[in-house]
Order: sequence, then structure tokens, then C-alpha cells
Amino acid sequence: AKEPVRVLVTGAAGQIGYALVPMIARGIMLGADQPVILHMLDIPPAAEALNGVRMELVDAAFPLLKGVVATTDVVEACTGVNVAVMVGGFPRKEGMERKDVMSKNVSIYKSQASALEQHAAPNCKVLVVANPANTNALILKEFAPSIPAKNITCLTRLDHNRALGQISERLNVQVSDVKNVIIWGNHSSTQYPDVNHATVRDKPVRELVKDDEWLNGEFITTVQQRGAAIIKARKLSSALSAASAACDHIRDWVLGTPEGTWVSMGVYSDGSYNAPAGVIYSFPVTCKNGEWTIVQGLAIDEFSRKKLELTGAELTEEKELAYSCLS
Ligand code: NDP
Repeated sequence: AKEPVRVLVTGAAGQIGYALVPMIARGIMLGADQPVILHMLDIPPAAEALNGVRMELVDAAFPLLKGVVATTDVVEACTGVNVAVMVGGFPRKEGMERKDVMSKNVSIYKSQASALEQHAAPNCKVLVVANPANTNALILKEFAPSIPAKNITCLTRLDHNRALGQISERLNVQVSDVKNVIIWGNHSSTQYPDVNHATVRDKPVRELVKDDEWLNGEFITTVQQRGAAIIKARKLSSALSAASAACDHIRDWVLGTPEGTWVSMGVYSDGSYNAPAGVIYSFPVTCKNGEWTIVQGLAIDEFSRKKLELTGAELTEEKELAYSCLS
């Protein structure tokens, strides 16, 4: 039998956490033959709710779940973890300035970086979900210098999956037949969902849709603003789709992407495609043996180039804002 993998979920008493922990315990993240031990962290005001989630995990009697650590102690939460999914973060409340939210999150991610660096298992893989996801991941990277930069990523898979979903609905095809969309840049409204290399059963999406106006307009804004549309409809932000995307992200990273398919991940930029180096930027990646590689050599047209630059500029600005919160 396989040794259990320890998976940390921070903000585990929140709504994404509530959707995510049963998926992990059922093997959706790491495979149906992979036992797991869940480490759940939340802040003291959420301790009672967190204990409720722990009770439900016991009651669900998941065969793969070999243990649960539910705690408000960051060190206890981080100790020995092989995978860390960082969902906890300070939400943007009405009337708060962007700088105030940034400053709260920078301090959270700075302290969690140290705990992970000192206590996580070697080669721990980190996925940041909490917003501003790219910049939180960057802060985590900066304050955990002994964790390799390639082990720290942020979630843009939800945006990627949303783009697949929109194309599938538009063409009335199975979502599993749509491949190789790309989310470039920041997990924010400046992200660029790009279908120029996307296919359905090996046919280019652009040729099938035959409507560049829609692809260059409404398609992009629908994906960019989908989060707000869900909040309007549900009166709560998206949770099951975010949790499912987090599982997809880790599963493909650990177990590999299928031949001929890439996915989108926020990763530490080396300046590929003229993206700013030294920020966490979403690129098309393939994964093999637990490591991601940026897909190289894709043609970028003028329309796309501008969008890649815009979202890159926003990330550079967020990085500066984050650093100004530190000083
Ligand atoms: P959610 O579980 O709905 O969201 C958690 C985080 O994920 C938020 O930062 C949210 O950003 C972000 N997020 C990223 N992508 C998405 C998406 N597509 N849809 C929705 N959210 C997304 O929030 P809850 O408030 O229910 O839970 C947060 C938990 O974190 C709570 O249990 C709380 O106690 C904990 N927490 C921990 C802190 C810490 O560790 N110090 C500090 C504050 C809270 P956005 O805010 O932009 O929606």
C-alpha cells in the first residue's frame, strides 16, 4: 500500500475549503489509490466551525482518509505536509482600499511562508488560491527562500476551465473534447483567456466558432467576469468550481498532463513570452514527473501581445504594492 500523502488546506472552514476537503479525501486530487492525511488550518474565530468540518470528515468514513489534523496553529498545520493548498486569506470588504487588502494578505503569506519553509516536507508543492493569488504566491516564495521557486504556484485553472466551458457551450461539444486554451497573466480581470491554439478534436476553435468578434469580445469578458456573475447569482462566491480546479491543478502537476495537452498554471516567470520575470504569471504548461514546463514557441499575434503586456504590467504593479506594504 502507498504511504499517505499529507495535504494542507488553509482557510479550511471557509466555503472553498468545505467543498475541497471531501474531494481530497475521496481521491480526486491525488488519485483513487492514494491515501491522504488532511491538515486543516483556520484562524481562532473559525475554530469551532473547523471542528465541525472535522466531525463531518469522520462521519463520511472516507476509505482513503488516514487522518485529520484540524488546528489553528500554523506550525502544527504545516508540519510534514507534501502538498499545501493555501485558501485562507483576508477578504476584500466593502470600502477597503486595494492597499489595505494587500497589506493584510502580505503579512499572512509572509508568516505562513516561514512556517512552510521550516516545517513542511522536503519538495512540498504549494498552490495559492486566496486572492490576490499571484502576488500572495510571490510573497510566499520570497519569504521561503529554501523552497524551490518551481514548487510555488497559484491557481488559474478555474479560469482555464471556465474558458473550456464557454467554448463547449458555444459549440455544443463535450467539454472533454476542448483542449489547449490558455490563461495568461494575473488571476484578475486583466487575465487573458486565449483560444488561438485551442482545438476541438484537433480542429482549431477559431475555425469552428467562425465568429472572431465573439471570441475577441464577449468570450473574453465572460471568462474574466465569471466570478462576479456567480456572486450575483448565488449571493456567494464560486466554491465548488474553485475546489474542483484546485484538485485539477495538483493532480496534473503531480500525475502529469496527458500527451498533447497543456493546462494553465500561475508559475514563477522566467520572462518567457516577454512576460515580466520575477512575478507569478499564468502560462500554458505541461507536467511530467512532478514538474511543470512552460510550453514554448507558440505564436502570439498583435492582439494577444497587448493583452499579455497589460496583465504583466498589473502584476509588476501589484508586486511593487506588496513590497511597499512590507516596508
Ligand atoms: P472562500 O473560501 O470563498 O475563499 C477563500 C479565498 O479564495 C479568498 O481569498 C477568495 O478571494 C479566494 N478565491 C480565489 N479564487 C476564487 C474563486 N474563483 N471563487 C471564490 N474565491 C476565490 O472564503 P471564505 O471567507 O468562506 O473562507 C476563507 C477562510 O479563510 C475562512 O475560514 C477564514 O477564517 C480564513 N481566513 C484565514 C486567514 C489567515 O489564514 N490568517 C485570514 C482570514 C481568513 P476573494 O476574497 O477575492 O473572493
